Order: sequence, then structure tokens, then C-alpha cells
Amino acid sequence: MDAKRLLIVGGVAGGASAAARARRLSETSEIIVFERGPHVSFANCGLPYYVGGEIEEEKKLIVQTPDGLRSRFNLDIRVNSEVTAVDAHMKRIEVRDLQTGKNYSESYDDLILSTGAAPLMPPIPGIDRPGHFTVRNIPDVEAIMDWVKLKQARSAVIVGGGYIGLEMAEQLHHRGLAVAIAEALPQVMAPLDPEMAAWLHAELRSRKISLHLGDAVARFEAPGDHEPAAASVVVLKSGARLAADLVILGLGVKPETGLARGAGLAIGERGGIRVNDRLQTSDPHIWAVGDAIEVRDVVTGGRTLIPLAGPANRQGRIAAGNIFGRAGKYPGTLGTAILRLFDLSAACTGASEKTLSKLGVPFQAVHLHPASHAGYYPGAHPVALKIIFSPESGKLLGAQAVGHEGVDKRIDVLATALKVGMTVDDLVNLELEYAPPSNSARDPVNQAGMVAQNVLRKDVDIVQWHEVDALCAEQALLLDVRDDAEREAGAIPGSLHIPLPQLRQRLHELPKDREIITHCQTGQRSYIACRILTQHGFKARNLTGSYRTWKIARDHGPLSGGHL
Ligand SMILES: Cc1cc2nc3c(=O)[nH]c(=O)nc-3n(C[C@H](O)[C@H](O)[C@H](O)COP(=O)(O)OP(=O)(O)OC[C@H]3O[C@@H](n4cnc5c(N)ncnc54)[C@H](O)[C@@H]3O)c2cc1C
Repeated sequence: MDAKRLLIVGGVAGGASAAARARRLSETSEIIVFERGPHVSFANCGLPYYVGGEIEEEKKLIVQTPDGLRSRFNLDIRVNSEVTAVDAHMKRIEVRDLQTGKNYSESYDDLILSTGAAPLMPPIPGIDRPGHFTVRNIPDVEAIMDWVKLKQARSAVIVGGGYIGLEMAEQLHHRGLAVAIAEALPQVMAPLDPEMAAWLHAELRSRKISLHLGDAVARFEAPGDHEPAAASVVVLKSGARLAADLVILGLGVKPETGLARGAGLAIGERGGIRVNDRLQTSDPHIWAVGDAIEVRDVVTGGRTLIPLAGPANRQGRIAAGNIFGRAGKYPGTLGTAILRLFDLSAACTGASEKTLSKLGVPFQAVHLHPASHAGYYPGAHPVALKIIFSPESGKLLGAQAVGHEGVDKRIDVLATALKVGMTVDDLVNLELEYAPPSNSARDPVNQAGMVAQNVLRKDVDIVQWHEVDALCAEQALLLDVRDDAEREAGAIPGSLHIPLPQLRQRLHELPKDREIITHCQTGQRSYIACRILTQHGFKARNLTGSYRTWKIARDHGPLSGGHL
């Protein structure tokens, strides 16, 4: 392999992994990394945990220093160095040394752009007031911590309920600040479907974090004469006024494509750099990776933006491999992601019901609430699990899970299953670990496969949590087959109660001319009820996820009547 001159713009997730891989493949090439900020290879994903004190020392955020990268990989690392232009024709870049102000240029054989994504700053009046911060790099969190100390901040408003906003909410709460979240959408964590996000709403409210959902920010302003002193008042479209000593702007990110646009590279419809599956841009000597590019959505096949660290790292490795003779293709992104929020974890992979509905893709979804490990072994918690699959082929399309324990491993298994195109039948047959402290003999993933298989094979018809009201209005009968104690703790209004053990003896109480919708606590016993009823000639369907899914949607999700 001939020695090359490889220049890399951006020295964090995608850029640093590309540089390290390039060196492993070519000992003789010249590899220069340009980074605008003062740090390379830092843990941006760890930033919120430093603010909250879970990561105690700033130096722990720095995965590799420029010196470390120089000595281990013989890389030329130039921090505080902004690349200001790319001349694709001449194969040269312009660089500004931000410390000396000096401009210079460098030539390349190949160039990798890993410029990431910048926090969105929409033109909301007052958005740039003092005390407002975005979270992207170490200087950002240093500025936040300085401000908190200086102003003795006691309250924070987080604008935007995405994962960065939620992690910051959790961490500022750990620091003792009173926290409010304002989100324009009716739910936090947009990749989740609303009934799954409702678990997060419940968790936030249980921590006394005030949630303002479906209420976009109208403007930011100084406190009025009769308002308490604060850095800013966040004024919402509803008219609500949230005073805060600190405002975190977590409004999403947009790919940094300035250099690519200036170089005349193709930009996709979603605003990211367009690359082929080898991660090559429209110029054969310029490659692009990470948050700045559009990727293929593995499930829908469409082009999309998915800003996550895992894909950026893998793409960096693939791009460097392609430059140095190790042909590789990036197979697309599933969007597998996880959030820890206090005691809960929420994770997802593949497509959501919302996305598939928007695209008009046919799907079926089942909900279940299996225990995180064997119910008889102490400490098991229910996991709210949803899988989405093709009603024709049974092919898995997406999965979401929320719970106290075991969410990560289930979503990782389901992400792997999705990646290789498994069907719900395949999920039933996965052989997964089991010992009582860690699992059940039927892993929740196996159980999800079985529940979906029952639907696919038409052993049972199902009803979704959001269909209950309309079906009852059309004279369907809602049948609760839980036991007395469960019923006393709460019930769906208008439902008839016949505990499952009594059902066979009390069939005469049920009408044959009305549809019956069975439910229990999670959907398992009501499936049995449904089987009994249909085999006795009744028209019955089962409420998937049953009372638990309906109740969380009613108390903290879309069924709460918009009064979130
Ligand atoms: C607070 C926070 C928490 C996150 N948590 C998670 C998580 O838990 N899990 C997860 O999967 N992802 C997480 N992410 C997202 C993840 O960090 C990104 O997807 C990943 O870093 C993208 O890698 P990248 O190389 O594309 O961009 P980055 O890692 O952002 O690196 C881009 C670098 O390019 C530099 N740059 C840009 N333009 C120029 C220029 N013209 N000249 C020189 N340098 C330039 C920038 O300064 C920047 O440092 C988080 C991100 C943030 C901000």
C-alpha cells in the first residue's frame, strides 16, 4: 500500500477512530487531524454526567490526549485549528490556527470530514441571553458549571426533551437544582412511541421535575418587575412563564456541512452530506462520516440523519479502511439508542409505530410486560416491551423497552435480530441465557416472539390501547379478567369484571352479539380468556399490553386528554 497524505477534519468520535484505523493500516502515511476545539477524542456522551458529578474529574472525559495520540499512533494532531475551506479541485484545505490567528493551507491525497452536528439555535427572541447554554463539548460544560457556581443557580429550565435534555435534567436534579422541561412535542424522547414515552413522563414527575409538553417556547426574556430574580424567563406559547437561573438549550442538532457545501459536495434532502455505501462523498477523494452525513435507515430504506456515537465510530473505521485498501460498506443505521433516566432505562431500535404510520408501511405492534428476571427470585421488575413487525411476513421492524432492569440486553438482542432480518418466529427460538437472578427460562424477547406469533397466526386478534374508547363507543364490551385485588386498585371505566378462574362458569353472562375486548394486567391472562371465548363462539379480541399500557397512556400519555 502506497503512503498517502490523509487529512481528517474533526478529532472526536468519527475523526479519531478514522485516524487510529488509518495508522494501523498504513505505517508510512502522513495523517493529520484538525480539530477546532481544544480537545480531541473526548467523551461527548459523558458530558452530562460530569455536570451532575457522577464523573468527578474532567480529565476522565478525555479518552486520548493529543500527546497520547501522537505517541501511540504517530498522528499529527492539531487542536484549536479550524478548517475554513476545502478546494476539492486542487485537493487542498485552508486552516486557521485559532491561537495565533495564522492561516495556512495543506494538500491531501484523501480527506475525511467528521465535522459532527451543531446544536440547533432557532431564531426564538432572546435565545442568546446570558445564562443560556448548549451542550456539545468540554468548554460548554465548564461554562455551565462556572455559571451555576457564580450565580448559585437553584433552578434550571431545559428546553427540549431529547436525550441530551433529559440527561441534563437528571444531572442538574442530582446537583439539587429545581428543574423544568419545556418540549414542543406532546412527549419526550421522540424516537419512542407516545405510550412508551409516558413511562418517562411518570418518572420525571415522580422526581418533581415539572414537564411542559406540547408547549413550544415563544420567547426568552428578562424577569418582570414582580417576578423573582432569574437569568431568564422562558415564555411558552401557552403563556406559561418559567423563571430559571440556568437555561439548557437541547433543541436538537443539525449536521455541520459548511465545508462540504463550500467544496461543492452533494448534500442530501435531509441536509446531511450525501455519501455512498463506502462513505465516499460526491468527490472520490473526500470521505465523510458521523453526524454530518445522511445514512440509510435499515428498516425503511430511506435516507436519514441519526446522530449517534456508535455509528460514527464504525463509519470512521470503514472510511479509513476504504482509503487504505480494505474495501468495506456501511450497511445503514438502525438508530439503536438508550437513555438512563433516574431509575428507569428506555431504549429503542429500528422503526417506531409513528414513523411507519407516517410512511404508510403496514405493521402490527404488540405490548407486553414481562419480568426482568424470574418472578420468584427477589428484585424482578416489569419491563414494558413493544415489538413492531410486518403483518405479512412477521419480519421484525422495531422494538422499544422501558424498565428498571434488563432493558439494555433485550434491546441489544432485538437490534441484532433486526439487523439480520429475523421474523417473530425466529425470536421464539432464540436461545438466550437463563438463571433466576438474571432472566426467566423464557426471555422477554422469546415471550415477545410468542405473543407476536399468536397474532400473526390468528390465534388471537388484538386491540391497541388507543382504540379502546372508540370500540366501546361502538358497543364493544370491555371484559376485565383480573382478580379482585387488582380490580380494586383501578379499572378501565365501563368494564365488566369476571376473574379468569370464573370465566368458564359465567359465559352465560356475556353477549354473543357484541364484540368483547378482554384485558388483564399485562395481556397474558386475557389472551387465555380470549381463547376460551372465541372457542365458545364469542367474538373477542385481546387488549395488547392490557391495563398497564392503557393506564400509563391514560395517566401520563396521549389518553390523558391533552392535559399533560
Ligand atoms: C451531550 C451529548 C451526549 C451524547 N450522548 C450520546 C450517547 O449516550 N450515545 C450516543 O450514541 N451518542 C451520544 N451523543 C452523540 C455522539 O456524541 C455523536 O453522535 C458523535 O460524537 C458524532 O461523532 P462525529 O465524529 O460525527 O462528531 P463529533 O464527535 O461531534 O466531532 C466533530 C468535531 O469536529 C470538529 N469540527 C467541526 N467543524 C470543524 C472544522 N471546520 N475544523 C475543525 N474541526 C471541526 C468539532 O469541533 C467537533 O469536535 C451525545 C452527544 C452529546 C453532545
